[in-house]
Amino acid sequence: MATLGTPTATAAVINKHNFSFRKKFGQNFLVDMNMLEKIISSAEVTKEDCVLEIGPGIGTMTQYLAERAGKVVVVEIDSDLIPILNDTLGEYDNVSIINADILKVDLHALVEEYNGGRPIKVVANLPYYITTPIIMGLLEKKVPLKSITIMVQKEVADRMQVGPGSKDYGALSLAVQYYAKPEVVAVVPPECFMPRPKVDSSVICLSLYEEPPVSVKDPEYMFRLIRASFNQRRKTLSNGLCNDGALSLTREKVTGALREMGLSETIRGEVLTLEQFARLADLLM
Ligand code: SAM
Repeated sequence: MATLGTPTATAAVINKHNFSFRKKFGQNFLVDMNMLEKIISSAEVTKEDCVLEIGPGIGTMTQYLAERAGKVVVVEIDSDLIPILNDTLGEYDNVSIINADILKVDLHALVEEYNGGRPIKVVANLPYYITTPIIMGLLEKKVPLKSITIMVQKEVADRMQVGPGSKDYGALSLAVQYYAKPEVVAVVPPECFMPRPKVDSSVICLSLYEEPPVSVKDPEYMFRLIRASFNQRRKTLSNGLCNDGALSLTREKVTGALREMGLSETIRGEVLTLEQFARLADLLM
């Protein structure tokens, strides 16, 4: 039975193992049972699921996941936490513990080894210093996934789900929305963590599409255009694209494509929808 999920239980484990929090690893452990239940119920974890938990900490959420899922694989960078995880997860025979940096793990091989290559679910309270590389790595490397349910900084969750015209709209919003349907399911105050972070957090569920919502001949090329347009936010879209040497685009070609789409030459990238970026990519290729 799960024994963790309160400040007292977490403090007891930390004292027992003489563990010191490492700020550089973004260690803010969840100590709120309601929030743990909320994350796991939002992920709709069942015995059919193999779950990857990134950064299990002392294994608090892992205990709850182990009770619901068929299989749980955890990847934790801090070797000081491994003996703790062996202790707190000792009674669960469906949990595998890997001591590694998630950014260096071959996730295709992991899915093959633990779930025969079938799609897995990712559930995690992410280390905030590497949230974007983790999410982009999962999406762009096309790891077989059903869904990603993660705790992230509130501001980052907002960026993932906004549309054109907002100051938060950017390359992350477009990448997430190309691969998945995002939905914020909870806003989480600092009191739910030990130690307390300085910012609010959100739980966001990304449900992966079987087919992307827009069709584009070369998605990689579209994302290069998107990055170039948001690299120079204050510039017009055509300046942003023409100034990116690697794209080798002439002004005539860019303005011609914009005209064909019925868009002004002075339009900024931040007002274009995903569909419009897809169309622009097909015209400029
Ligand atoms: N899941 C735990 C919880 O909710 O209580 C801990 C979450 S804490 C925000 C983030 C965890 O990710 C820490 O345990 C930290 O050591 C781990 N971590 C940080 N960087 C990592 C990386 N590159 N690869 C794997 N784990 C990492």
